Amino acid sequence: VDNSQGGDQGARPPVRAELVMIGTEMLLGEIIDTNAARIAQRLAEVGIHVYFKTTVGDNWTRVALALSQALSRADIVITSGGLGPTQDDLTREVVAAVLGVPLVEDPAALAHVEGWFRRAGREMTPSNRKQALIPEGAEVIPNPRGTAPGILARRGNQAVICLPGVPYELTTMMDETVIPYLKRRFVPNGSLHSRVLKFYGIGESSLAERLSDLLKMENPTVATYAGRAEVRVRITARAADGVAASELLAPVEEEVRRRAGEYLYGVDQDTLEIVAGRSLKAAGWTVGLAESCTGGLIATRLTHVPGSSEYFLGSVVAYSNDAKAALLGVPVDVLARHGAVSAPVAEAMAVGAMQRLGATMGVSVTGIAGPAGGTPEKPVGLVYIGLARGEWKEVHRLQLFGDRDRIRWHTAQAALDLIRRHAEQAAAQEQGQSGPVGPHGAGRA
Ligand code: ATP
Ligand code: MG
Repeated sequence: VDNSQGGDQGARPPVRAELVMIGTEMLLGEIIDTNAARIAQRLAEVGIHVYFKTTVGDNWTRVALALSQALSRADIVITSGGLGPTQDDLTREVVAAVLGVPLVEDPAALAHVEGWFRRAGREMTPSNRKQALIPEGAEVIPNPRGTAPGILARRGNQAVICLPGVPYELTTMMDETVIPYLKRRFVPNGSLHSRVLKFYGIGESSLAERLSDLLKMENPTVATYAGRAEVRVRITARAADGVAASELLAPVEEEVRRRAGEYLYGVDQDTLEIVAGRSLKAAGWTVGLAESCTGGLIATRLTHVPGSSEYFLGSVVAYSNDAKAALLGVPVDVLARHGAVSAPVAEAMAVGAMQRLGATMGVSVTGIAGPAGGTPEKPVGLVYIGLARGEWKEVHRLQLFGDRDRIRWHTAQAALDLIRRHAEQAAAQEQGQSGPVGPHGAGRA
């Protein structure tokens, strides 16, 4: 796969990074290698290409083989895992052997390990002392969130970087030390700066069509990515500094917004739950949910955001008809006449959530997530989303596709997007600039 990104095909060959992921658990399928994805994303953000990734078990010979092979063809080798104190943690020994240097005790690393145990009030065992060993000539990468320090070793122009397997330790070390180092050392002719725009309600191909000429640009580059029931556009500029990058990025971002702004929900680290929460807060509203097919997923996502107690009151997970009637006051005859997955039930659920939770806005979802339970009139993926605020009510009907997981996730995306749109619209109207609520990627019931 050629993952060269265009725009940097100058005289200098691209910097090649390679990942060596160490841990037998990954080869047994017990854990999924999220670390490699994390590292690769961070590298891509600064314009360093990953050419190979090897996953290898906790075996001396095979780790040595993987490392040697990586060093035969990459400028930067990053390893994950095997820095712990136990017998099967071999990374530091193998790296030293492959580089042909002895292991030496690093005083700063030892102080770090000792400090960690002191603060934890635990006895340090002799095996923990092993974590202070680094290949001679290497440097320690601080690990502010765990015992095992990382290693930064050099061989000529190459760098070998060893990080622990624990994902949050690895992420912090990447962000705080590794990426800044790699930028200084390997990305001299300016670095990459990017802006991500996030869209809901438009497919990747339609968005790409609207942006087709922009997708051919060189600096900045523009690329679309399909997410989970959303699409991202990444605009990446190569520039000497952040100010110069902003000057390149801003006009292109403006153009993307001009062409597809009605579907844009946020930028960079935004998620729909963050943006929905921000809009509710700005409008001074609270929200109460009634969830059937999502089983609490929307509440989980909203409460994932710190500070959500300011606007999120609660969610009634009402799965059965009885629960919908008893907990939300959905009339039994409405349930009997229209069925649980219907516009009248969605509306009554939203009103029930609003009233019973005492919220400014009630939002409900009821649908058929599958794989069973569909009928010709009500196929799998049919979802109703109800909204209520005061006397005002609205129901949206969606026909979604995919497996159960995807239908539930997409339903949550749709509900969060509707919350965001309505709260934003209210805020805009308050400022006297009324606008349409806009498309939802689904027809109204
Ligand atoms: P420790 O000092 O905790 O032993 P370590 O550097 O030796 O750390 P491992 O023992 O390989 O790392 O992994 C520690 C934990 O981190 C594992 O239990 C595993 O769940 C998780 N982990 C390891 N590698 C990965 C990976 N590539 N992706 C996601 N999680 C991982
Ligand atoms: Mg370990």
